[in-house]
Amino acid sequence: PIIRPLLAIEGLTSHYGRIQALHGIDLQIGQGQLVALVGANGAGKTTLLRAISGVQPISGGGIRFGGEEIARVSADRRVRAGICQVPEGRQVFGPMSVEDNLRLGAFTRPKEDLAGDMERMYQLFPILKEKRLLLAGTLSGGQQQMLAMARALMGRPKLLLLDEPSMGLAPLLIAEIFRIVKSLRDQGITIFLVEQNARAALSIADVGYVIETGAITLSGPGPELLDNEQVQSAYLGM
Ligand code: ATP
Repeated sequence: PIIRPLLAIEGLTSHYGRIQALHGIDLQIGQGQLVALVGANGAGKTTLLRAISGVQPISGGGIRFGGEEIARVSADRRVRAGICQVPEGRQVFGPMSVEDNLRLGAFTRPKEDLAGDMERMYQLFPILKEKRLLLAGTLSGGQQQMLAMARALMGRPKLLLLDEPSMGLAPLLIAEIFRIVKSLRDQGITIFLVEQNARAALSIADVGYVIETGAITLSGPGPELLDNEQVQSAYLGM
């Protein structure tokens, strides 16, 4: 089936001074899809994510979101348009309670339906309900990752950008995080997942992209990429 692209990136380039980090990226994220971007350290994954959320300047190409060109729209307006990034390393507000962190996530929205949304987050992440009155800084790494995701979801994003959600987590927690990411997709949320954990990411992705030194080298259905020999030798240690 043809899926309408929610996000369409064309010929995107980005530089750090004279160093070019992105070399003409073409990438599409269909409405409701879970799209994974995998690649080694320094390949340009974070740069691409930050270019989408609007905090990384681009030097060429375009980004269309819901049919509108946003490459020159401010990061703040992109958030209000429904693009929400969960940054690498979570960055929850440590000195605030879990509940207040969630409240902050809803700052772009009317407040009436806050309680209902918070209850939905507690169903999705029961541990956060248990800890809702504690300071976020006292949570474990995995719990902080869940809080960062829940906080982003409180803004009811149209596109959720996840930067390495499995980073630094124990295997059991990684499985839990990926199970939740998949269930968010099953609930209709469009997700762009950036990961070094290629196996876990590609196995749940509708579509996967491989990025190497700032360029997309392979793309296809996630499970198909998992079977690809190049991907297996470069990213899966096979
Ligand atoms: P990681 O998984 O380590 O975050 P990545 O795939 O996200 O890696 P990027 O962080 O996007 O990669 O980096 C892409 C390239 O841009 C790398 O070569 C990196 O050295 C370079 N780069 C990143 N940030 C800067 C910066 N602030 N100044 C100069 N070069 C940078």
